[in-house]
Amino acid sequence: MSNTTVDSAVQAYQEQFDSRPTAAALAPGRVEIMGNHTDYNGGYVLLAALDRGTAVVGAATGDDTITLVAADFKRRAVLSARDLKRDSQNSWASYVLGVVQQLQQQGVPVGGFNAVLRSDVPSGSGLSSSAALEVATAFFLRQLFPYEMPPMEIARLCQRAENQFVGVNCGIMDQFSSIFGRADSLLFLDCLTLTHHPVHMGRDDVAIVICDSAVKHALTGGDYNTRRAECMAAAQHFGRKLLREVSWDEFVAREMELPENERKRARHVLTEDRRVLAMREAIARKETAPVCHLLAEGHASCRDLFENSTPELDFLVDTAVMLDGCIGAKLTGGGWGGCTVNLVHQDAVRQFSQDLAARYKEKTGRAAHIYACRAAQGAHTVKV
Ligand code: ADP
Ligand code: MG
Repeated sequence: MSNTTVDSAVQAYQEQFDSRPTAAALAPGRVEIMGNHTDYNGGYVLLAALDRGTAVVGAATGDDTITLVAADFKRRAVLSARDLKRDSQNSWASYVLGVVQQLQQQGVPVGGFNAVLRSDVPSGSGLSSSAALEVATAFFLRQLFPYEMPPMEIARLCQRAENQFVGVNCGIMDQFSSIFGRADSLLFLDCLTLTHHPVHMGRDDVAIVICDSAVKHALTGGDYNTRRAECMAAAQHFGRKLLREVSWDEFVAREMELPENERKRARHVLTEDRRVLAMREAIARKETAPVCHLLAEGHASCRDLFENSTPELDFLVDTAVMLDGCIGAKLTGGGWGGCTVNLVHQDAVRQFSQDLAARYKEKTGRAAHIYACRAAQGAHTVKV
């Protein structure tokens, strides 16, 4: 996420609308470092906002017409601020309109505007380009149609936009990290209480390298729903609504009462919560050895207990940890394909990325997409 993204959006705006934009906002994508499938169980998660983001630049028109240009997709959509409707030809516009609708429902008089969207967050790779777009839209619109709202409320508003207008049942963590990101810090979030705080990494020589396996296995939706149902059933067995409310001691004492799959899913979620807390501790104390160990345990738990890894992700993790400069690696995001996250010493990043890509290509014949990132600040406006 750099001003290059904004500059490029400004340039596209001038070409498209033959005038200068009056407002701009930039919001980052995010990656989960630890806390895989803990969010909907009310658990803990450690995230990083990335130095890759989505820019929304534009100006108010004074009428009711909203004209959106998706510069990355070379698409234009023309809509009405008085009659917000999904445009089946331009589904990407729904992420913006959903935010417009939620703001209007809060009494913010959002009228017509022109805007260009531009991003260097890969879309659909699990780095949450969708939340980056929603949050950038909310920060952009706040300049055109000023409103006061606490940051967590803006996160919730963007989440509702995605839930209700786009129709994706996402949790709060993506929008949360896009707003609360801090340079060189991870973000701790308690998904039950929404308590949160930054965890300063304390060293600027560690990069967050994301490796997209470029494989998405079929049946993902079905697997996701099955896992979620198994977690809820396990919690219910203990008389609780969420696994978070089951204590570790109680779980260990009675886990054998559960059907095998429910036991495995619940064991993953409850050990993962403990790993998030241990990782937060290790990072705060600047200890590398436990971080390395916890990342390995986290991946093994996904692979063996939650069973959301793939042979490609296992290969990427097993290969990465053998390469010079790698502190640790694990799968990240939903699983069944998608990405791994690697913590890598900055001076080794280039060689690490080349070697990982080469070995992956040799093994699978596929080209992995590798993004070397840093933990970065959250959404903000940019002067244009
Ligand atoms: P993820 O959030 O993991 O990247 P999603 O499927 O949730 O994947 O969101 C991706 C969708 O968000 C895209 O298909 C598109 O509709 C919208 N989107 C993301 N980035 C942009 C962009 N730069 N311009 C227009 N639409 C975007
Ligand atoms: Mg998304």
